[in-house]
Amino acid sequence: MRSITHCPSCQTQFFVTEEQLNKHHGQVRCGQCLHVFDAREQFIDEEHDYTDTASSTSDQTENIKPTTSSTVTTDVNVNNAKDNISDEIQTEDQPYNPDNPPEITKKRRINQISIKARNILTLLFASTLLLAAIAQSIYFLRNTIAIYYPASKAYLTQACQSLGCRIDLPKKIEFIVIDDSDMQEDKVYAGLMHLSSTIINQAAFNQAYPNVEITLTDTEDKPKLRRTFTPNEYLSEHTDITKGITAGENIKIQLAITTAGIAVAGYRVFVTY
Ligand SMILES: [Zn+2]
Repeated sequence: MRSITHCPSCQTQFFVTEEQLNKHHGQVRCGQCLHVFDAREQFIDEEHDYTDTASSTSDQTENIKPTTSSTVTTDVNVNNAKDNISDEIQTEDQPYNPDNPPEITKKRRINQISIKARNILTLLFASTLLLAAIAQSIYFLRNTIAIYYPASKAYLTQACQSLGCRIDLPKKIEFIVIDDSDMQEDKVYAGLMHLSSTIINQAAFNQAYPNVEITLTDTEDKPKLRRTFTPNEYLSEHTDITKGITAGENIKIQLAITTAGIAVAGYRVFVTY
């Protein structure tokens, strides 16, 4: 059985046990101010111990232990356990006022706020990670995004200006076809061949100009000479290469290649990036 008493000198409240009370007929020494008083005369009605704060008050008493008394009149020295004060019981030294227990309530509210703050921080952290992941995906997929969402290209280009990247023209070689190829010997110069062909962009979007690779073969269809022409070499100097080959566009190309004394029986043409 525990009762609540309070020091009439400093108003600190304590729980006291029946055993402590019986030892010296109720005489106890305040652990806070060392005042000796009759604990029974200073009882506080437990009803004043608000249910809201009851658990916390109970926490306080966990740290209160009787200690050896050095006085004649008292044996029970109620220790307020200052050394053991935790965050939860910082109100222990405060005078007890039943009308004003919210010190503990305030503490709880602070705890609730800190939990909310932690949740918000966690949410912010997760959101930041998500945004970073999205930004990274956009960065690496920027060329593909620009292909399928042409409206985004201006924004992506702008973003790339500050990031030091660039939006490359699409290079979907499967949509580039070579058609209508023909190879003729030069009528004047021996060993000089002229290739004419058409490059078609079958994609629904503009693409980078491909390289054109010509392979000359012998009578057994073995490759004897191979040469790759870049867009600079097969396009006229007036062509703006940076704009690429537009969707559905056909371009006629003329290429000259020397056989270097090799007996040429056939040829192959490829487009590559
Ligand atoms: Zn006291």
